[in-house]
Amino acid sequence: MKGAKLISATGRQLTRMGARPLFDEGLYELGRDSYAWLVPNGSWGETNIGLVRCGDQTVLIDTCWDLPHTREMLGHADQFLRDAPVHAIINTHADGDHCWGNQLFAGRPIYSTRACADQIHHHKPIQLTALQWSSKIFSGIPTNGVDALGRYMGAMLKPYRFSGIKVLGASQTFSGEMPLEIGNVKFHLLELGPGHTDGDCIVHIPERRILFAGDLLFVGVTPVAWAGPVSNIIKALKRIQAFDVDVIVPGHGPLATQEDVQQQIDYWEWLQSELAPLAAKGVNVDEAAQLCLSSMGFRNAPFAKWADTERLFTSACTLYREWGIETAKYRGPLGQLDHFRRQALLGSVTVGPESATDTFESPRKRP
Ligand SMILES: [Zn+2]
Repeated sequence: MKGAKLISATGRQLTRMGARPLFDEGLYELGRDSYAWLVPNGSWGETNIGLVRCGDQTVLIDTCWDLPHTREMLGHADQFLRDAPVHAIINTHADGDHCWGNQLFAGRPIYSTRACADQIHHHKPIQLTALQWSSKIFSGIPTNGVDALGRYMGAMLKPYRFSGIKVLGASQTFSGEMPLEIGNVKFHLLELGPGHTDGDCIVHIPERRILFAGDLLFVGVTPVAWAGPVSNIIKALKRIQAFDVDVIVPGHGPLATQEDVQQQIDYWEWLQSELAPLAAKGVNVDEAAQLCLSSMGFRNAPFAKWADTERLFTSACTLYREWGIETAKYRGPLGQLDHFRRQALLGSVTVGPESATDTFESPRKRP
């Protein structure tokens, strides 16, 4: 991968979601004493981690979705962690796939935005363990797309083990920005959320010419606005573009080029302009999302080739909310899961080799 040298690979032949990997999973050297754990292809939980050696200590930027994957990542970095153990964690945001390995570093400083710390306990690992079990049952209920929900969530959660996780939030928080110096290395933490979540921040290390963008930036994967406003994500991406750095590490996917950042901006601008007239005409959000995904504008755009295109549904709901339109028809026995049932119905999820492939039409099938 341009801008990085693979120094320790897992050698896996398939991604966690069962796709053909577009790059090697493993530890990459980004420059002197700076590393990233990059996980193909950047889908659910396939999260990138930063490892920044600062003399005889190391700073981690994010941890993995569960403890086994966090330990695996640490194992590949053992060659330098032995001399420079992890001293501190910086969490870019509160999604579990970026911070549920924090407990392995209890007692060491953990930094995040105040908004991230406020959000970090909203989701509980036990809920996902329960969902792993219930998705098996859902998969056998061929009514109203409940089976599609079961397969969708089952494939998303299958590679992970959520038992034993105790969510550990920040010991030190900030709002706006925070300079941080660890072992003579200067970090600049900059809050650019809300957008992807309530409390997104990016981490700039000027002397290393590296930027860790968290989930404000995805590469080769459809981004998602859980929190919004989408305009803030666009603003954040423009800020990221303006940094004079050699390496930009996204939250998911391979290292970013300037063109990748621009394509994300194009996606968000396209989504807003495609959706706004539909919303104004009173088209419901499910149908509007479907129309966006089947439009020529989408099919001809680079983002039609990204993974997880069905996530557009979540971002469409966020935009509808921003425009004051009620979308929360998540009542009934499925409760909030109905959101994911509707999202599952929009996408064709290619899952692991031994799992079923669902039957819904998609603008694109993953390799
Ligand atoms: Zn993420």
